[in-house]
Amino acid sequence: MALLPNDLTVRLEKLRQSQGANLRWEYRVGAWLIDISVHRLEESAGFHIYLSDVTERREAEAQLEFQAFHDALTNLPNRRAFEKTVAMALEERRTGAVLLLSVDRFQAVVDTLGYAVADRVLCDIADRLALLTAGDPSTCCIHRFDGELFSALVPQFDAPNEFASFASRVAGEMAAPFVIHGREMFFSFSIGVAHFPQDGADVSELLRNADTALQSVKRRGGRGAVRYIEAMSTRALERLEVEHALRRAVERDELELHYQPQLDLASGRIVGVEALVRWRHPMKGMVSPADFIPIAEETGAIIEIGIWILATACAENRRWQEAGLPPLVMAVNISPRQFADPQLPQTVLQALESSGLAPQWLELEITEGAAMHDVDAAITVLHAFKAIGIGLSMDDFGTGYSSLSYLKRFPIDRLKVDQSFVRHMIDEPTDAAIVRSIIVLGHSLDLGVIAEGVETQAQLSLLTKFGCKQVQGYVFGRPRPAAEMRALLQEHLARPTHAS
Ligand code: C2E
Ligand code: MG
Ligand code: MG
Repeated sequence: MALLPNDLTVRLEKLRQSQGANLRWEYRVGAWLIDISVHRLEESAGFHIYLSDVTERREAEAQLEFQAFHDALTNLPNRRAFEKTVAMALEERRTGAVLLLSVDRFQAVVDTLGYAVADRVLCDIADRLALLTAGDPSTCCIHRFDGELFSALVPQFDAPNEFASFASRVAGEMAAPFVIHGREMFFSFSIGVAHFPQDGADVSELLRNADTALQSVKRRGGRGAVRYIEAMSTRALERLEVEHALRRAVERDELELHYQPQLDLASGRIVGVEALVRWRHPMKGMVSPADFIPIAEETGAIIEIGIWILATACAENRRWQEAGLPPLVMAVNISPRQFADPQLPQTVLQALESSGLAPQWLELEITEGAAMHDVDAAITVLHAFKAIGIGLSMDDFGTGYSSLSYLKRFPIDRLKVDQSFVRHMIDEPTDAAIVRSIIVLGHSLDLGVIAEGVETQAQLSLLTKFGCKQVQGYVFGRPRPAAEMRALLQEHLARPTHAS
């Protein structure tokens, strides 16, 4: 009797009056969840009542439902939940914005500290993000997709400043360091935004466009937020213009190479230079490679430009040697598309031959992205270059895969520590830790390590303390035209010992 529901007699009376035959519902008794099913018996004016304990079954169902829509690591709602909510918002013809938030340079944390620590960091980050919505979960709800990718749906993002203020609230939550294993780490987000209905008709289009915006933030070095239309309109326009003009740049002699010194810290001597291409655009003036190399990559124009760059850099280096300057290594950047070009070895040999430069004075800078695309093919090509005697370095190291096993298999000579780590190494202990790890790692694999983007004495002394032996950066000189570089080398030659 104790298990029967309080309102049983009332319900039975109603059933009798309505001439109904069956009734079924669930109710709680203490910790139990009871399922009751009632059948009215025509002939005896009585009822059969069946009670069953469905507590465990319902809990299991709730658990499954929770798992289906939540991320197991952070307990935040997951991608499925997000897609469902966005689809609902679209159906109800509401307006709003889909945000994708990605933790900047998180792969470096995984690589240096391992997955277990990285997972803990992600949970801490998730907790901070959740604080953003603690006041009012209806205005915005944080979800986790996978890896370091989070998302948010913000229903009433109409004014552009509202969106900026969200981005700065995210930055605000991330301002304090995370303490992991007693060490302080800082994180920032790249945020891509797609508004609906303007930026997409369905969930997948909105997510794709938010991701396009996100990637454009990442390309600019992270830490910031961009709306899809802004990312698209500037990019599409620029692309079109650049694509047309680039085709003629080589013919019209609008490209030039600048050279940036690389120093050996122990001797204070310039041991190499990096060739960096510039485009003297007839209307826009000097265009930075960051603005046209990616487009030249996409359109394939980089192949022709690359041939010119290699020939010019080798010829210049040979001229310096002929002028009696001490021989230097000339580092030339090879972008992924060039690296994948089967003609590349031929192009390189041709540049060496026609300039008369000995192969040991040429170094090719490749990125991990270029090499990891097809690892086995990359290893073959790299060995071919090694066999000729050309130097090889891994550019922007630390931003890509940074995989140790591949590093061992690639026959490279040195690592270039990416400048994004060097830039923040003084104020961000995580970055300092990464720089230090890369230096130790490189040396333990018998590779040279050069830090790029070194701008200040403070960075220089910390790098020295970490055992770094070579540097490149504004602190020793910006990239400069060939004539100025030659003058610098002459002056340098005259100097007996340490350079400034
Ligand atoms: P990268 O190869 O990592 O080149 C280093 C970039 O850092 C250069 O930018 C250089 O000017 C800049 N830099 C050097 N020292 C400092 C410093 O102390 N502080 C700061 N803030 N920056 C510094 P740049 O010349 O704009 O080139 C950008 C990227 O474009 C290069 O990155 C490289 O990926 C690509 N690139 C440049 N020239 C060529 C080229 O001839 N061929 C190809 N394929 N790519 C090139
Ligand atoms: Mg480079
Ligand atoms: Mg670099």
